[in-house]
Amino acid sequence: MAKGRVVRISGPVVEAEGLPEAKMAEVVRVGKDRLIGEIVEVRGERVVIQVYEETTGVGLDDVVEATGEPLSVELGPGLIGSIYDGIQRPLDLIASISGDFIGRGMAPEALDREKKWSFKPLTAVGEMVEGGDILGTLQESPLIEHKIMVPPDTKGKLTSIFEGEFCIEEVVAVVEDEEGMEREITMLQKWPVRVPRPYKEKKPVSEPMITGQRILDTLFPIAKGGAGCVPGPFGSGKTVVQHQLAKWADADIIVYVGCGERGNEMCQVLKEFPELVDPNTGRPLMERTILVANTSNMPFAAREASVYTGITIAEYYRDMGYNVALMADSTSRWAEALREISGRLEEMPGEEGYPAYLASRIAGFYERAGKVLTLGKGERYGTLTVMGAVSPPGGDLSEPTSQATLRTVKVFWSLDSELAYKRHFPAINWLRAYSLYLDNVEDWWKKHTGQDWKEKRAMAMRILQEEAELTDIVKLVGVESLSPKDRFTLDVARSLREDFLYQNAFHEIDTYTSARKQYMLLKLVLFYAEAGFEALSKGADIEKMLKLEVKEDIAKARLVKEEEVFEVYKSIVKKINEQFSQLIEGKLEIKEDIFENNPNLLYRKPLNQKGGDA
Ligand code: ADP
Repeated sequence: MAKGRVVRISGPVVEAEGLPEAKMAEVVRVGKDRLIGEIVEVRGERVVIQVYEETTGVGLDDVVEATGEPLSVELGPGLIGSIYDGIQRPLDLIASISGDFIGRGMAPEALDREKKWSFKPLTAVGEMVEGGDILGTLQESPLIEHKIMVPPDTKGKLTSIFEGEFCIEEVVAVVEDEEGMEREITMLQKWPVRVPRPYKEKKPVSEPMITGQRILDTLFPIAKGGAGCVPGPFGSGKTVVQHQLAKWADADIIVYVGCGERGNEMCQVLKEFPELVDPNTGRPLMERTILVANTSNMPFAAREASVYTGITIAEYYRDMGYNVALMADSTSRWAEALREISGRLEEMPGEEGYPAYLASRIAGFYERAGKVLTLGKGERYGTLTVMGAVSPPGGDLSEPTSQATLRTVKVFWSLDSELAYKRHFPAINWLRAYSLYLDNVEDWWKKHTGQDWKEKRAMAMRILQEEAELTDIVKLVGVESLSPKDRFTLDVARSLREDFLYQNAFHEIDTYTSARKQYMLLKLVLFYAEAGFEALSKGADIEKMLKLEVKEDIAKARLVKEEEVFEVYKSIVKKINEQFSQLIEGKLEIKEDIFENNPNLLYRKPLNQKGGDA
């Protein structure tokens, strides 16, 4: 391979000459330590290289070797359960070779070459195959079946396929193309990280990703294949939200990219994630999780690459037909790495020193989310849901990274340190959060819960908004001056907040609420509202209304076991009706049968059970 010479060094940005064949995005090795770098610009004779490791010790005239290959990730069995750095070097392996720090210039293989996997063919010799077709499968972890796919650029007749125990570099199949050329297929593929993996077609998203968190699923749903962001002011409960998502989101695979956060925070993730247990199977969550970690003390160029490493791995599992969720924390630190590199490249700075292409890079990243019809014969769909955390300094969302992110994503879960301070969890501010997927997921909710899902949700939102307005008035003139109707509205809003939105992540039952229980609980609170408004209109006394004993039952309703919800809620509805009726002459007209008892609808869908309803 061609060799050039270093002519300029500026932190992680190195310029070299003497590499006439060099291409954009090609990986090079820099200096005696053979540091790993990537060509980010070609300026005539000169190439500009972003080096993914500390460049101390690199000197002028040091050798730069071209490799001819773009920055790629290895894809194949063994990814699940791994912990990588930003350029897919396995962290635990590196730690064992070089102590706690990653030795410079080390490029250990991302996937174990020696481990044997038991490959079962699904395709027969003689069949015509094309990119994306599934040749066979193997059990990658107790939770995940790995599908070995024909690489995207391959097409032809399958001339051999082997069953048995293989390492990832051994040939498991041979495909002969139209010209009679044979191509050997192993279980190891490589893919350049900056190029989205191909698919046949992007499809509209239609199914919510159920997280079991009431405020997320019911008020601000994210679709499978959607993109969302969550700001993370310190102490606002971001870590707990992330853990809840990792544990409960009904995705098959979780890819977590820890990007530029402080070392101790990332350490916490690295320590805690492997200890988390899949609540449905009792298996370690790492059996469906991949971690990419790049802390703030690691070189920031690798931080820039880490989100691409993560998302390429996520796309690979999406292509197998899985629902994949990627979490990136924090995209603000990633954008800062971009700014840093751009500065070193002496590019014209845009807003606040960020490069002018910041917004398009952010959009390009989130656009890799989606529901796709995968390559290959037949109809296989996979989804990639992307959730990025933004953590602007000082929590000011008007800065460029947050703004560019908010323009791209369709869900905003606005964590609020004030709510966290009041111990309202999850501390998502319902007045500021939003989801633009409501229309996409409406049919799913109607089918799996009830036809009036959207109206009920809208009613809850309306009451919460009214509360905000009324609270302002109360501050000025006191609660006594409000009309009975307004006072009752405040009471309903309180109930929505305390009995529905508040959710204790550490309570055995409260930690997860199925879609169906969420809907029923919402209806229960709103039944209380409707019955109360009717009673008021029929002359009930507001003071007595606010002291009804049934309010305690409503407060405890979120802790009712899933399998008892139907009976218990029905009895609470009855009680509400009776107690309000006692405050008026006669009876309420409101109908009691608000729940449908459909035994075919499971309350809780085990994570890895395909096809079941929520
Ligand atoms: P951050 O990561 O934003 O600094 P954490 O996620 O560590 O904050 O949350 C801070 C504390 O808030 C937690 O230790 C926990 O006590 C509490 N907390 C956060 N979310 C919840 C929740 N859903 N239920 C109960 N407690 C919570």
